[in-house]
Amino acid sequence: MTHHIYALKYAGPFTSSGAFLMWLKDWDKTVMRHYYIWVITGDHDPVVVDAGISPKLAREKSLIGYVSPVEVLRRMDMKANEIRHVILTHLHWDHADGISLFPNATVYVQEREYRFWTEDPIALRPPFQHVYSQDTTLHLKKLEASGQLRLIKGDKEILPGITCLLAPGHSVGLQAVAVETEKGTAILGSDCAHTFRNYKEDWPSTLITDLVAWMKSYEKLRKRCGSMDLLFPGHDIKMRENYPEIAEDVTRLV
Ligand SMILES: [Zn+2]
Repeated sequence: MTHHIYALKYAGPFTSSGAFLMWLKDWDKTVMRHYYIWVITGDHDPVVVDAGISPKLAREKSLIGYVSPVEVLRRMDMKANEIRHVILTHLHWDHADGISLFPNATVYVQEREYRFWTEDPIALRPPFQHVYSQDTTLHLKKLEASGQLRLIKGDKEILPGITCLLAPGHSVGLQAVAVETEKGTAILGSDCAHTFRNYKEDWPSTLITDLVAWMKSYEKLRKRCGSMDLLFPGHDIKMRENYPEIAEDVTRLV
């Protein structure tokens, strides 16, 4: 079974202290990061991984280099309103706020991630609200009512060769996506690591919900991927710079 995986940059570059990407290190260094969604193609309808953010929130946050996920998908000749499958790796705003742009998709999210953000009062406290957009709850509740929301418990193959893997730590119920490709099993790890370097040096980035769980998730994903080159992070600018560009800001990772 063979799939291709594409990274679609929808915003950036953002500049911050290195300590943002390497927890408690590199305070004096300046690093850049991009925001992405990903597309998996194969012998079935394309699968979009993460939803980016809506134009409304992008305006509120004056997001640098923002292009609507709808427009980036159009560069791959895909229409957001025709996408049938969206996997949300976790519900931080930069990954989930744009879910309203995919009105006809079945949306896959870990049950514990969904319950945390929609039901746990801790999620209303400032550090969590800082990384969340309330519109996400609004839209996901609508999808739950219409039967379009699939709540996943742990590891689950959702289409042949595409498996959601529970990998908590950065958030309560973050899920990575394992994809069977010609090169072996590739994993879209999303923010289980912000950069390739986090995996290599066994070091987390910021926004830690559970550090013990995070370290276990590293072990799990390293074991599962075909090679470390096939374990992709959430925000590394290398995903745009080091891979063939097939359309503006769209690169083929595998
Ligand atoms: Zn992120």
